[in-house]
Amino acid sequence: MRYVSTRGEAEPRDFAGVLMAGLAEDGGLFVPEAWPLIAADQWRTMRGLDYPTLAARLIAPFAAPSIDEPTLLGLARDAYAGFGHPAVAPLVQIDRNLFALELFHGPTLAFKDMAMQLLGRLFDHVLGESGARVTIVGATSGDTGSAAIAALCDRTCVDVAILHPQGRTSEVQRRQMTTVLASNISNIAVTGNFDDCQDLVKAMFADAPFRRELNLSAVNSINWARVAAQIPYYAYAALALGAPDREVAFAVPTGNFGNVLAAWAVRRMGLPVRALAIGANVNDILARFLAANDMSIRAVTPSLSPSMDIGVSSNFERLLFELLGRDAGRVRQIMTGFRTTGRMAVPDAAWREASALFSGVTLDDEAVIAAIRELHARTGYVAEPHSAIGIAAGEHLRATLPPEVAVVAAATAHPAKFPDAMERALGFRPPLPAALADLYEREERYVTADNDLGAIEALVRAHALRNAVPA
Ligand SMILES: *Cc1c(COP(=O)(O)O)cnc(C)c1O
Repeated sequence: MRYVSTRGEAEPRDFAGVLMAGLAEDGGLFVPEAWPLIAADQWRTMRGLDYPTLAARLIAPFAAPSIDEPTLLGLARDAYAGFGHPAVAPLVQIDRNLFALELFHGPTLAFKDMAMQLLGRLFDHVLGESGARVTIVGATSGDTGSAAIAALCDRTCVDVAILHPQGRTSEVQRRQMTTVLASNISNIAVTGNFDDCQDLVKAMFADAPFRRELNLSAVNSINWARVAAQIPYYAYAALALGAPDREVAFAVPTGNFGNVLAAWAVRRMGLPVRALAIGANVNDILARFLAANDMSIRAVTPSLSPSMDIGVSSNFERLLFELLGRDAGRVRQIMTGFRTTGRMAVPDAAWREASALFSGVTLDDEAVIAAIRELHARTGYVAEPHSAIGIAAGEHLRATLPPEVAVVAAATAHPAKFPDAMERALGFRPPLPAALADLYEREERYVTADNDLGAIEALVRAHALRNAVPA
């Protein structure tokens, strides 16, 4: 499979190339040159496969010829072996015709582990063949950083420096990052907010000599390999519920549009996905777009679902490319306009196509607390804020679709990850799973730094060089 940029001005690359590059040089996102289409009887043969086998089967067409299916299977078996549930991504029935797809049984208790655990191994595999070493830099408001650190600690070919805003992540999130004492991991607490951290990362990438010197790379959600690694669990759920001989619909609590894009992808690959619902908190740019073609940037408000506190959904550009008939010139023009005006001028026909398939459901914090309470009282199911928004979007689908369509809501984090919100809603703090039970006693290690590019670059350089020298 070759990958092209949504803006059409970057050199096409193979899977290994897009894995390493992340963002395309023209500022666009890499997408497959053609989507693999799987026939119904092919899908039927995949029913009952275990998760790693299904993952390898479905990622294989995207990874060829860089990585073959047997290699992918070995990496996937290893990636998902440490998950806390034998099904990896279990499907839990919470009501008639409503299912939660639990994506939070990985080491850091959020859905990002599903892709990141595989990504870490893909990096090592590709770099191991070339003998290169890369420095991964990233900014996090919590979940991405911890998932990246858990996936990349002790990998031999990568150094990792993660910037988080000092004092602005939850304690569980911070400790999941700072208690990983592997020598290739560096945590930098920046005096500033998440946007400052993200700007520092962008500035490091824009500093060409620095980028070359340290061979910088990224694992944020615009990396195509992360989207690819999220496709299997939607197929896993759909097949378990009777697809391709039964229609399904997915509801996904959405921030950067990465997770729901993978749900859209299984539809593009031939599964009968009737509808997709996007759950949002008050940072509702996508819901406003779907309701009234209003894709306009507003200031980000902190909420009880911090992993969805975003102003712009970067991965939407990949859907836009498809909605515009893969016209990269128009994507480029629209994205340039978006950057200068803060409002995305999506053509009416494209908006109508999007809003026929996708719907948006918005819950503010008060509605989230009420939804958690109501769900628990009615069904006994304990959902944290992100998952509760997903399930509320699922309820919306259930109310609007015929009863034969199976509705699946993505449950994206473990309730123990957001104990304050759970206590507020239900009056108790869900316990951490056994593997993390001593998280609050573990030693933490991190450095603090001012919001200053020179100082941060010096820290990242020192970290990478220390590891590059053989012991
Ligand atoms: C990252 C995250 C989301 C949002 O996913 P996107 O792919 O950015 O849309 C939702 N819930 C949780 C718990 C997350 O960590």
